[in-house]
Amino acid sequence: MREPSAPGAPVTDGSVPLCVPQMTGNEWKYVKECLDTNWVSSVGSFVDRFERALATYVGTNHAVAVINGTAALHVALLVAGVEPDDEVLVSTLTFVAPANAIRYIGAWPVFMDADPKYWQMDPDKTLSFLENECVWKGDQLTNKSTGRRVRAILPVHILGHPCDMEPILAAAHKFNLPVIEDATESLGASYQGNMVGHLGDIACFSFNGNKIITTGGGGMIATDREDWAKRAQYLTTQAKDDPVEYVHNEIGFNYRLTNIQAAMGVAQLESLDSYVAKKRSIASGYQNGLEDLEGVGLMAAQPDTEPVYWLYTALLGSSTTLGARKAFIKSLNEAGFGARPIWRPIHMLPPYQDCQAYRIDQAESLYNRGVNLPSSVGLDEDDQQRCIKTFRALAESQRVLV
Ligand SMILES: *Cc1c(COP(=O)(O)O)cnc(C)c1O
Repeated sequence: MREPSAPGAPVTDGSVPLCVPQMTGNEWKYVKECLDTNWVSSVGSFVDRFERALATYVGTNHAVAVINGTAALHVALLVAGVEPDDEVLVSTLTFVAPANAIRYIGAWPVFMDADPKYWQMDPDKTLSFLENECVWKGDQLTNKSTGRRVRAILPVHILGHPCDMEPILAAAHKFNLPVIEDATESLGASYQGNMVGHLGDIACFSFNGNKIITTGGGGMIATDREDWAKRAQYLTTQAKDDPVEYVHNEIGFNYRLTNIQAAMGVAQLESLDSYVAKKRSIASGYQNGLEDLEGVGLMAAQPDTEPVYWLYTALLGSSTTLGARKAFIKSLNEAGFGARPIWRPIHMLPPYQDCQAYRIDQAESLYNRGVNLPSSVGLDEDDQQRCIKTFRALAESQRVLV
């Protein structure tokens, strides 16, 4: 059977994919324009257009297009002032990319738990870490147990839902830390009336094949700060100080998005409102189809947020073991549905096992019980109803709701 999580894999075998892109707008037209005009590389009008359109959409003053979301995180951390041997507070229940980006700099992640109700970075534990585990040494906020400088907070808005940003921003303000949003899974979501990506000091988006919109691969850094945007642009284009004489005063990166990819991005952004509406209707379909199942945990929206439900996710019963959840997903896959687990918490992964993980007692249970369900913008309603029926039947027969 086809690998169910393969992003962008063509649907050929009648199965219902987890999350695949949709190209029904101006993608062909704009990409053809690039080829016809020979503007295919990292300079071209679509790069500028994509940056302006994304910034306008999320409400930031600036946006800088890059080759992927991981590169966006790497550069956003640098721009925010994170240096080798610093520490960054980051969610543990998420994809590994933000932790990797921290390590690219030679800095260290300190992992924060997920809150049990909304599964996002727990703001209370984050504040408690700063208040109880850190001290000021001169103007340096220092982690008492490692002696390292704590330099930033990196909340990840997972699965299309915003983190509870108000208390996180208050904690960041109190301890004078910049907030870097990983908004890669949540383009289009809002929190207290503000778009995700315009809640902290700088934000990162991804346009990988399975994200809300895609450019094949791509990313964006968004910020209100002109100096940070300029620095991001500089670092992502090989830090050119004199483009004619090849003068580079710093080590830069070749991280610019190409015009062809940006052309796709401009077209995808034109469709974003309809994608967001579709994701929300998919979520209410699952909600209606599963909410009466005793023992199931469904993705709840926090008050005053409008999620985009990137991947709709259900939790099996609270006593479900990892093995039972694996078997359940395997059965859903064999029945033709592209289900997938939530990520193994990063503090459990070999490269990160020695990093500090602060009072984590929720993330692993969410990992053991979480099931992502088919959530493509193009998901057919009948397919979704079949998926719900299959989910209910399998949950009953495999007794995974206790
Ligand atoms: C997808 C994703 C990224 C990385 O994006 P790429 O474009 O694949 O590099 C980063 N963080 C999270 C939480 C993601 O889901």
